[in-house]
Amino acid sequence: MRLKEALFCYAREIGIDLMGITGAEAFPAARQTLADRRRQGLYAPFAPRDLVRACDPALSLPGARSIIAVGLGYYQGKLSPPPGHRGKLARIAWGEDYHRVVGAKLTLLQDFLQREVPGSRNLAFVDTGPLLDKEVARRAGLGWFGKNTLLLTRLGSWVVLGGILTTIELPPTSPQGKDCGACDLCLRACPTGALLAPGVLDPDRCLSCLTQQKGFFPLELRRALGLRLYGCDTCQEVCPHNRHAPVTSEPAFFPRGQEHRPQLAELLVMNNREFKGAFGASAAGWRGRTVLQRNALLAVGNLGEPDFLPLLKNCLQDSRPIIRGHGAWALGRLGGRRAREALERALAGEGDPQVQREIRLALAGNI
Ligand code: SF4
Ligand code: SF4
Repeated sequence: MRLKEALFCYAREIGIDLMGITGAEAFPAARQTLADRRRQGLYAPFAPRDLVRACDPALSLPGARSIIAVGLGYYQGKLSPPPGHRGKLARIAWGEDYHRVVGAKLTLLQDFLQREVPGSRNLAFVDTGPLLDKEVARRAGLGWFGKNTLLLTRLGSWVVLGGILTTIELPPTSPQGKDCGACDLCLRACPTGALLAPGVLDPDRCLSCLTQQKGFFPLELRRALGLRLYGCDTCQEVCPHNRHAPVTSEPAFFPRGQEHRPQLAELLVMNNREFKGAFGASAAGWRGRTVLQRNALLAVGNLGEPDFLPLLKNCLQDSRPIIRGHGAWALGRLGGRRAREALERALAGEGDPQVQREIRLALAGNI
């Protein structure tokens, strides 16, 4: 069997759903698009800093000839919501961290390539690697870009990507020449208007980006956050290409229990050790406890459940200004005499100007 066929066959054996191959030449059009986005202030905070390197494979692996693109579907089907007051994680964070899941399969593929072509050099990448994985996957024919900026594949867009840059010359697979046609469901469904135009995302309005960024959450977008704790699936949920997405065969992408809908009260009182135990293996844990607890406070405010009043009052005493500030916002959303008294007491003893501002806004009802 020729190497390419043997590679595709082995990939299926180890649970890789999608595979394609493209040459290792540079990506000048993608580089231009990203440079334009950066100039327009629309560059995602977690996109590669070094555009030249990200768009030229030879700079990461001299002598590279081909790029093997892989995709794994992670759609878990519909799971019924567990009882209690809970937040939401995007599907990508329901199970084990996809970087590890995809990374483990890429290691197997690298071993395979080494056995088949001794002396070849192979560099694996997943998300944070040196190359633009979506662009690599598009050129290798795994799918095409939807107006929601995501790669639409035969499995829909619930797909995680990775790849291997290799010195082995492999025959390429063809890109797909498809597009969304007249559909604009994702643009209309986005709760913050972050999709400014087809394929143009404003990361400063995208809840998926914002739930992962540190600092004070933009005031005007807090209500739109709803119960989201990490990520946002809305522009994928409405996409017709996801209507018949197959349920993943990868067990690691399923939650072990009810982790996909964390209990808000439990999350808010977790210390660092408890947080690592609960979220350390998930993609949602990478930004740390404070970011997720901040999002949980916004979710509590949006939930408007008075049972949270004592917990929120405790948050006003937290050593972290982010937690005090967002706790104040949540109390303001809850409203009522007891919330107001707690805010007034907190303001009298608050030394941080940003938290003072949050408390004043909450007291004035400007939230
Ligand atoms: S992830 Fe959510 S906020 Fe971001 S573009 Fe999609 S729908 Fe809008
Ligand atoms: S919802 Fe419609 S416009 Fe948006 S990505 Fe899917 S097919 Fe394209």
